[in-house]
Amino acid sequence: MELNYGPEYDDFRAEVRHFCETEGKKTKSGALRMGENRPSQAAIDWQGQLIEAGYTARTIPKEYGGYGGTADIVKSLIIQEEFVASGTRSGIQNQGISMLVPTLLEVGTEEQKLKYIKPTINGEMIWAQGYSEPGSGSDLASLKTKGVVEGDNFVINGQKIWTSSAQYADMCFILVRTEPEAPKHHGISYLLMDMKTTGIDIKPLVTMTGDAFFNEMFISDVKVPVTSIVGQRGEGWRVANVTLKYERGMIGNPGMSAMGIRGVADLMEEETISGIRAMDMPVYRDRLLKLQGRSLANKYHGLRLLSNEINKEGMGVEGLIVKLSATYLSHEIYSLAVDVMGEFGTLYDGSAYQRQKDWMRQYLGSFMGIIGGGTSQIQKNVISERGLGLPREPLVKLDQNGWELIKK
Ligand SMILES: Cc1cc2nc3c(=O)[nH]c(=O)nc-3n(C[C@H](O)[C@H](O)[C@H](O)COP(=O)(O)OP(=O)(O)OC[C@H]3O[C@@H](n4cnc5c(N)ncnc54)[C@H](O)[C@@H]3O)c2cc1C
Repeated sequence: MELNYGPEYDDFRAEVRHFCETEGKKTKSGALRMGENRPSQAAIDWQGQLIEAGYTARTIPKEYGGYGGTADIVKSLIIQEEFVASGTRSGIQNQGISMLVPTLLEVGTEEQKLKYIKPTINGEMIWAQGYSEPGSGSDLASLKTKGVVEGDNFVINGQKIWTSSAQYADMCFILVRTEPEAPKHHGISYLLMDMKTTGIDIKPLVTMTGDAFFNEMFISDVKVPVTSIVGQRGEGWRVANVTLKYERGMIGNPGMSAMGIRGVADLMEEETISGIRAMDMPVYRDRLLKLQGRSLANKYHGLRLLSNEINKEGMGVEGLIVKLSATYLSHEIYSLAVDVMGEFGTLYDGSAYQRQKDWMRQYLGSFMGIIGGGTSQIQKNVISERGLGLPREPLVKLDQNGWELIKK
């Protein structure tokens, strides 16, 4: 069996490796950590260098600020492998770049693409996602924030919650109910809201990692131009699902677990328990190997999806499983790291006794992926109902008399 990629790809790998060894060395390794603020100027400069070299925004057309390359799965794989192997900082990943930009490319107007994609992929325009509301998280389509047309604007009133980055975002893609009489999935519109508009009040919420990176967002009489709609009025649920598809892809990005595995493997090489390297202890080594196997499976699964996308074959059930599998995997990777560190694993940022990096923070943070973007329970529902065609779960209502079956 011939496992080489061929001379064209060998040359490409050499080029990427050289870039990582020379340019990559000059920059701080790792991705922007959740909870960190807007990308620094250094991160924005690095992003520019990556776009110019074609190592991020690779297939985004030049007129929208991307590299303008053609899709090539093997090259994407090589870039990912070399960046992970050398610990080179990857491009910026955020809700704008990873979720809104591909949504606009798929369903946005030409004007929206020209206006928003370039500053977003450069890391200069930050987006928040205004989906969840109190009482409308898993049952997102029940959202109540209203958008009423007055003249050339939608006037928005309501409340969003868990809105990541809202405290420093420039823009927000927001779901509002514009047709209150329509069935719940049909009365929603998807708007692009400028966060500097009068009437937006942001209140931070602190997670168990101690970071306040998400927020409550109160919206009172906020005016958004009617031209800021993505897709048709009342058809925002379809657009919202396009974004959710890319959100699953972002959270399920196999490169993240590969980075995590690499970090834990390094840790196990360095840490000793009673004089024995953790890497030489079967109990830890076995766990690492199993996780490595799953990480590789995710990586090749990711390539299968990329191939489907390039060949316009659609994602099917394969696309629905990535978030579920990757978030459990990350959780187990960081559990292993905490276990390897023993009692030191429980220490948190700022402890005088903390060794190694912030494994406990990573471990606690891994729960966020399991909940954000639709919980694992909801992912299982989506996979079974939309992916495998199993019967829909019965609709139930909870009141003071207990659960009542509404629809089978
Ligand atoms: C780190 C993080 C970042 C986030 N960022 C954003 C953001 O930027 N923008 C945004 O809009 N939202 C954001 N969210 C919100 C996220 O999408 C919701 O938390 C999630 O969809 C769950 O909704 P909920 O919190 O209202 O929980 P609920 O819907 O109240 O669910 C509570 C529990 O019940 C379970 N459950 C509910 N319905 C079912 C069902 N039908 N079958 C089985 N189990 C069920 C859930 O799995 C969960 O365990 C973020 C969340 C987190 C954790």
